[in-house]
Amino acid sequence: MRRQRPTLIAVSTLIAVTLTTAPTPANAAPPDQVTALTAHQADGYTTLAWQPVDGATDYQIERTPVDADNTPTGAPTIVGIWRPNRQINQHAPTFADAGYNPGDTFQWRVRARTGTTEQPYSDPVTATTTAPWGNPTTPGEQLRTGWETTHAAQYTTDTDEYAYTAAIDALSDRVRVVELGRTVQNRPINMMVIGHPTPAATPEAVAATAPVAINCNVHGNEPGDREACLIMARQLAFSTDPRITDLLSHTTVLIVPTINGDGRANNTRGNSTGQDLNRDYSLIRQPETTAYITMVRDYRPVAGYDGHEFGNSRAGDLPMLPPRHQNVAQPIFDQSQDMIEGHMYAKGAEAGWWACPYGCEGGGNVGLSEETILRNTLGLKNVTNSLLELRSSGGQTRPDEGNTTNNRRRKTYSALWTFHQFLDYHRADRADILKARSEAIETQAANTGRLVFRGSRPIPAHPAPHPGDSPPPLDAPPADLILGNPPCAYKLTDAQYNGARTDGPGGVGTTVAQRIAAHGWKVITIGDDHYIPLNQPERGLIPLLLDGKGVEKLTDGERVYPTLTGRRNGPLAVTGFTCADDATINGPVTVRAGAALVTTATTISGPLTAAGAAGILLADSTINGPVRIATTGTISIIDATIAGPVDLSGNTTGTDAPVLAGTTIRGPLNCTGNNPTPHNLGIANTVHGPRTTQCAAL
Ligand SMILES: [Zn+2]
Repeated sequence: MRRQRPTLIAVSTLIAVTLTTAPTPANAAPPDQVTALTAHQADGYTTLAWQPVDGATDYQIERTPVDADNTPTGAPTIVGIWRPNRQINQHAPTFADAGYNPGDTFQWRVRARTGTTEQPYSDPVTATTTAPWGNPTTPGEQLRTGWETTHAAQYTTDTDEYAYTAAIDALSDRVRVVELGRTVQNRPINMMVIGHPTPAATPEAVAATAPVAINCNVHGNEPGDREACLIMARQLAFSTDPRITDLLSHTTVLIVPTINGDGRANNTRGNSTGQDLNRDYSLIRQPETTAYITMVRDYRPVAGYDGHEFGNSRAGDLPMLPPRHQNVAQPIFDQSQDMIEGHMYAKGAEAGWWACPYGCEGGGNVGLSEETILRNTLGLKNVTNSLLELRSSGGQTRPDEGNTTNNRRRKTYSALWTFHQFLDYHRADRADILKARSEAIETQAANTGRLVFRGSRPIPAHPAPHPGDSPPPLDAPPADLILGNPPCAYKLTDAQYNGARTDGPGGVGTTVAQRIAAHGWKVITIGDDHYIPLNQPERGLIPLLLDGKGVEKLTDGERVYPTLTGRRNGPLAVTGFTCADDATINGPVTVRAGAALVTTATTISGPLTAAGAAGILLADSTINGPVRIATTGTISIIDATIAGPVDLSGNTTGTDAPVLAGTTIRGPLNCTGNNPTPHNLGIANTVHGPRTTQCAAL
């Protein structure tokens, strides 16, 4: 759903209505005193809400520890400053107070300030905060992280994490821990696969549930999100809350607590080689990033969050940002923006958390288009997603956070709130997320429009007052990094494709072939030449790694342009690598053994026959006749219209499963004896005739 942003006029009107219709009580409070203060308890934080005071410049939130008799046990402390740019609506101020020991009892008061003049405090409210989640005597629920047991004095260690996740796995049918790979120093990179009543059994089966993925800790010295992930995993594993079981019955939650175990153990930003892993998700030179990208290929998450901490203490609890690279398909950018500005800004205003665009006020030159950053890499892989930053220090608006443990608690519980909201957004907007993904994949596979090598979509200014009224930098693509006429494919020599590399740790690197395989791109090999066509779902990412203009590329591939365009009459026998774009072929087409056909925006009268072909990649094309493909080469049919019948039988394509997605077949579809079984990338096909077992679910 596309949500309308509230306008200043609407907000002003609401304030005016509130002021003019509010009844005047018999014993009225002083006009500048905050009234109607409430305190709502949630996991690790308290939402304070109150009636606004006319003319207030800001508000101070005071917290006092009290005992069971409501007698203060410590000094009152100003723990929060509410500023008008904190939330998208001004008529219902809220503040998420966090940074206390969960389970303790407090009294809160709030007062307005007019300029520097302090107005009277509200009447106090007293409440006991929510204790750490899980009954201490219920198996599973009783588990606690090292961070929780030390009351935020120490982060959960690597060995504690492995023991904790293994215990969850052992005690909960909903959780399976899988090892995605190992770090440079041989620490396991684990992922929790969580579903209800049990998670789907294989990556392909998980992919069919439209899963969500949370990457909790890529920068080892930014650990706040990781602690939230570990707590949330326990909640998802053991909660009987109908909301949780409903969420887990409709998707699979993938949680990777620590991709950078070496960096976490040593509290460094990079991995043990010093590489910033969030500048490596496209190049995948490191084993940690390779593990994550291979997971994305196999489990196909449709939405994601990537957890960080950030040093700007001037504004915003929770800076967020969508994938902005201009090669990201528009529907993915729009859906990600909807998740952030439509959902998180609105829900943050309810809960009292201050979400804003990354950078926030005067945040500097951050949040740009590097495809090496997971936010952009995932966008280029058609995943609706966002960066999440936890404001490192409390700054002026959280003045109690000189206390280190309280600072850590605020960060972790704000991340926990965000990740739960992320799951709720996916549950509510799943159809829109999947529609955006389908449209994006079909748009990418059509291979139309310019390519940029660096450059971001603008983030429109959010109506003031809000930190988004000064959005992140424009970051338009420079002219020399724009390619107006996209090639059909890149051709790599065998030396480029299979040659040893030295850009991995210790001088030992994987080959381009292995990295392309980890991304999941289709490759056509003819003799010693390796072709990577652009009519694929990751069309926006391929040139960034294989074109000479790529800013951080793997190699200089040769651009291959279409050889078949316009109208052609009579039978066609395809030899070698043939690329058709915007072509009309009036006649039967036979792709000879060892040859390949790649099409976009092309109509073939048919029939189309390919026995022993090196590759058949059809996108945004029409075949007005039968299609018969039997090969050991690569097969991809995306967004095509085929009269049929279609016969995809006896294809043995190694680890590279044939793709049949978003295609309409007016006749029967016969799929038998294919190994592996074809899949549809989560985009259903329309088949008017009967279809055999292997393609029945496509
Ligand atoms: Zn970071």
